[in-house]
Amino acid sequence: MLVRFHGAAGEVTGSCHEVEANGHRLLLDCGMIQGSDEDERRNEDPFPFDVGDIDAVVLSHAHIDHSGRLPLLVKRGYRGPIWTEHATADLLKVMLEDSANLAQMDADRDNKYRRDGKSNHKPLFTKTDVAAVLRQVRGMDYEKPREILGGVTLTLRDAGHILGSASVELAADEPAGRRVLAFSGDLGPRGTPILRDPVPVPRADLVLLESTYGGREHRERQATLDEIRDVLEHAWADQGNVIIPAFAVGRSQELLYWFARQWDEWKMSRWKIFLDSPMAMRVVDVYGRHERLFDDDAQAVWNGRPHPFKMPNLQLTPEVAQSQAINNVRGGAIIIAGSGMCNGGRVRHHLRQNLGRKQSHVMFVGYQARGTLGRRLVDGAETVRIFGEDIRVNAVRHTVGGLSAHAGQSGLMDWYGAIEGRPPVVLVHGEDDAREALAKALDKKLGAEASLSRVGMQREV
Ligand SMILES: [Zn+2]
Repeated sequence: MLVRFHGAAGEVTGSCHEVEANGHRLLLDCGMIQGSDEDERRNEDPFPFDVGDIDAVVLSHAHIDHSGRLPLLVKRGYRGPIWTEHATADLLKVMLEDSANLAQMDADRDNKYRRDGKSNHKPLFTKTDVAAVLRQVRGMDYEKPREILGGVTLTLRDAGHILGSASVELAADEPAGRRVLAFSGDLGPRGTPILRDPVPVPRADLVLLESTYGGREHRERQATLDEIRDVLEHAWADQGNVIIPAFAVGRSQELLYWFARQWDEWKMSRWKIFLDSPMAMRVVDVYGRHERLFDDDAQAVWNGRPHPFKMPNLQLTPEVAQSQAINNVRGGAIIIAGSGMCNGGRVRHHLRQNLGRKQSHVMFVGYQARGTLGRRLVDGAETVRIFGEDIRVNAVRHTVGGLSAHAGQSGLMDWYGAIEGRPPVVLVHGEDDAREALAKALDKKLGAEASLSRVGMQREV
């Protein structure tokens, strides 16, 4: 068995690893590179392998940096199965269709500005390519081993990162004996709302471990909840609105879960709550179809009152006119809208309406990358430009940490530490300082032989 590293090696996006097992060739993930325009242009490059040689794809979870080049793979001739957990299969449809829409909009905008007749910018992929991907997806349950190729068995285990996220165990009956490769996928922190905690692989000969937060720990969850409660109290006292920019997958649903769970304590019934994100609404539907994956706490909340997605004061606003009508609400509203970093989506309209008012509050609950509107606001910009208009920021800004979807260092160590025999580990999906910190901790505390993947490197299992 052999692994070749093609992406998410020394960076966080573009997850893609190629595996040779028992004479077959597989891909673990086929993710999009995200970042600057220059980084993202690399998505159009030829794949570093022959597409015709790939016999199967295993997808760890639906995030675009793990799944976003699947339409391109299919467009370039891949006709085999794409194995993944059932909920990931459903989320994949939402994610890839959104991604195809964005790609089309980018291409249209580009073509509009360059009318020399020559520049015909085509999107990376279209909805037709996405439909082809979805036809090749094969859903699986966690913990049910399946022989996906002759002598190659796949088992998926809950990774607790987003709904349907999996760690991957590939066992190959090679001539020299049985070899097992474990790939963590992205691991969530313990106690993530709604989701179960990550389940380790029992035994492996080589481990690929994510390391996004390999160099740090998260704060206690209770501190985060207290902070959200305080922001809501403060905003209510000011009689203002609370704008929460949030990612459509995971974070938006998590917020609704907390509102329902803390219903009495946070006096949630007095608010008007809006989920103003068509994509988040589609994800809400996916959650509804996969309640069997929820942890015990969430099962209890879902069976109690109020139901997180059916709170009496929750309004879902799919139509543009409904979204615009929120502009008339001057106070007492909590508005959850995308995009999570404010660089697109409906949240910008709400920011335009609310940033100038000193009674408004903006609560950031997720990572804000450099260069985004969200980051400028978090960094304290006094004026920001939205839709060509300069807006003075008088609203109160809050940054609530601790709601990460990634395990911190001790969570990663615990997941790895539970694997029998502490096999060698290759760190992927992390920037170099995070990977180096994790490698050091793994060596010191667990005596593990840890190395860092590099693009093009290969490693025997
Ligand atoms: Zn992820």
